[in-house]
Amino acid sequence: MTVKYGKPMAGVMPFKELFFNENEKMLKWGAAALALYKQQPKRTGCKLCSTPLPKEFYVKSHGFAFYLCGECGHLNGEFEETDAYNRNFFVLPESKISDMYHVESQIKFDERTDKIYVPKVQFIIDSLAETGVNVAALQYLDVGAGSGYMVAAMRKKRLAASGVEVSAPQVALANTMIPAPQAVRVCDPSDIVQIALTEEADVLTFIGVLEHIPNLQAVLQAITQNKSVKYMFFSVPCLAFSNAIEAVFPQVFGRHMGHGHTHAFSNRSLEWMYKNYGFEPIAEWRFGGDIMDLYRSIMVSLKENTDENFMRMIADFFQENGDALQLIIDKAGLSSEIHVLVKNAGA
Ligand SMILES: [Zn+2]
Repeated sequence: MTVKYGKPMAGVMPFKELFFNENEKMLKWGAAALALYKQQPKRTGCKLCSTPLPKEFYVKSHGFAFYLCGECGHLNGEFEETDAYNRNFFVLPESKISDMYHVESQIKFDERTDKIYVPKVQFIIDSLAETGVNVAALQYLDVGAGSGYMVAAMRKKRLAASGVEVSAPQVALANTMIPAPQAVRVCDPSDIVQIALTEEADVLTFIGVLEHIPNLQAVLQAITQNKSVKYMFFSVPCLAFSNAIEAVFPQVFGRHMGHGHTHAFSNRSLEWMYKNYGFEPIAEWRFGGDIMDLYRSIMVSLKENTDENFMRMIADFFQENGDALQLIIDKAGLSSEIHVLVKNAGA
């Protein structure tokens, strides 16, 4: 397996300004999501392996606890993310998720596609090509395609790609931004298992999606049973340095786990998943937003009681050294996200 570390932060910075400048608004939005999360049933078994969770919590942040599974090492939030919770988050017209990722113009859409999603596609292409696979001959399906960035990026790289997505407004946006034929189609959350089981795509991609699927084990099982699916590419949140940052900055919006992510993979639970489902890891790309989170948390917290020049000095430090600091975290296996390409042994 090949492992790649790091990704320059500068390219991402403009898109994250929202988190820097609008902490109050984000916190308010997050508080509503958190309140709903805390009304969900208590999680008793591990999200990934169903083993009963330990009594003692591992880390607490934003008012709820996380438990580390003794069997597989997965990090589990205190409550379940139910279908009802997810519908409120992602599907209903009043769901706020599309607000967060809203784009107002084709130019912005293309810019985000190029900076954030094309590198992911290039990583898939390079990793598959290294194993001698003809990437142009494969069919790609992006599951949880959102506003279509990943599909747009794959088509830019001349891959035969389409997507499925549960939010109708986001599907409409995707199909406006991406030239015909229809790029993304609407599906219901209850369709995901069937899609994983029967879709005739060679490669399934899940960008920030697996962690939101209530019946995750059933979906993973379905993928292993689908003879068409040869590869899966996914990014998921990880047990990370950011968990510590969020635990000590409760007044700052929690991008990583605080609001929306209710469980996270660890190096151990990833291994467990590969082994248990017959996924052979081909390539990993480890880069996180941990230093960005630290930078933002410090800046938001300093705002109240610091001279502007002092803030400037701290900001300059992060701007100049952020990538180097993050690379240390990535190489230590503590990045807030991981991207993985696996081969489906069942295919
Ligand atoms: Zn477990």
